[in-house]
Amino acid sequence: MNHIKQMFELQMKLNNATNGEIWTEGATKEGRPISWLRCIYMEAAEAIDSFNWKHWKDIESENDIDNAKVELVDIWHFLMSEAIHYGDASFAEIYNDMVPERDIDPEKMVEIFEKIVAISASANVDKSQNSLYQLFALFFQALGNMAMDVPELYKRYLVKNQLNTFRQDHGYKDGSYVKMWGAVEDNVVAFNIMEESPELTPEQLYTQLEEAYAQL
Ligand code: MG
Ligand code: MG
Repeated sequence: MNHIKQMFELQMKLNNATNGEIWTEGATKEGRPISWLRCIYMEAAEAIDSFNWKHWKDIESENDIDNAKVELVDIWHFLMSEAIHYGDASFAEIYNDMVPERDIDPEKMVEIFEKIVAISASANVDKSQNSLYQLFALFFQALGNMAMDVPELYKRYLVKNQLNTFRQDHGYKDGSYVKMWGAVEDNVVAFNIMEESPELTPEQLYTQLEEAYAQL
């Protein structure tokens, strides 16, 4: 199975577990309306905030490319969800073998994220617009411009997907989950586990997360 198909399956599982299978109809099992498009533009705004764009504050600070990559993977969760909700995800597979750029151009990145904000916010206001094709094209443009390919996306996605599953299983919704694992965030621990053993299956990664959480 190709990486993109696998990620869609994992996202389906995560959404079923988090929201109940009813989520594909547009609301959670608790009856909360779901707006994937809003999720997308909020994450895209977080991605923009990873860059040094403010003309009045910390003007010498570095761009936080690592965090922009994390936000891009967050966008990916929500973009896949919107495509599943829409009922067609197959067109995403044309991007499976996309070739990344070699250099990261921060100005270009901010521009792409800004387009993602504009298109997803606009489509959320005017439901007659279908923004999915444009959003997928922009997403993979962003991925390429961050010098990442689909296998790299898969690795990062797997980490966040399993972590999100783990959080849901350990009290994330009622607020009892502990996000700081010692001195670092759970994200960092999960990413390090995967960096050390890139061949881990989702289940093996989950087990390692359980072991690390139990030791806190
Ligand atoms: Mg963030
Ligand atoms: Mg985020």
